[in-house]
Amino acid sequence: MRVLTDDYKHRGLRKALVKTIQKKGIKDESVLQAIGAVPRHFFFDPAFLEHAYEDKAFPIGEGQTISQPYTVAFQTELLKVKPNDKVLEIGTGSGYQACVLLEIGAAVFTIEYNRSLYELTKRKLPSMGYTPYFMHGDGSKGWKSQSPYDKILVTAGAPNVPSALTAQLNDGGILVIPVGNDKKQRMLRVTRKGDKLFKEEFNYFSFVPLLGEQGWNK
Ligand code: SAM
Repeated sequence: MRVLTDDYKHRGLRKALVKTIQKKGIKDESVLQAIGAVPRHFFFDPAFLEHAYEDKAFPIGEGQTISQPYTVAFQTELLKVKPNDKVLEIGTGSGYQACVLLEIGAAVFTIEYNRSLYELTKRKLPSMGYTPYFMHGDGSKGWKSQSPYDKILVTAGAPNVPSALTAQLNDGGILVIPVGNDKKQRMLRVTRKGDKLFKEEFNYFSFVPLLGEQGWNK
């Protein structure tokens, strides 16, 4: 098994990455600290180590991409995560975003549709000291038995806001989700206040599609 080390060189590269995303507009100190804490190089093959702290998405095998740190920071900042928040993440992928949420002190429930990715990440994260609750399945329907959630974060592009997700939000709860077509999606923040939902619109991004019953149904 590969031995994972996090030395001064990695920590230095992380500091530089934090500066980069700060310059791009991320202000929330807890988000910047979390990006500065998660050893992103643990997700990379040693051959590609020099790419681990670039502000770029990167393919890391199994047809999988680790998200761009700025995108992770942007979504996390919009979500206004606080310690002890109960957060549902749709699209576990590499698990990097889940680690960022855990670093902030949230309890994280994460769902992945692709079985081999689910298996891989479920094995990998605890070996790095990160322990979210994992589920394999269609996250467009949420995770009803564990609901309600303070925050829900969707890390794949949806055609619409799934009603199953807004139904699983606490009063005052927040959903962050990219919504659009297969090429670009607008980042939305939906806040529940009683029976009412308030929607705010942010920048455009490009995510892989949210599949499943309340996704692209593929
Ligand atoms: N959050 C991830 C990370 O930190 O690496 C990146 C997620 S990647 C951009 C999107 C993920 O959503 C993919 O792994 C994809 O398999 C997953 N996905 C797509 N539709 C899904 C669904 N209905 N339920 C759960 N996961 C889904």
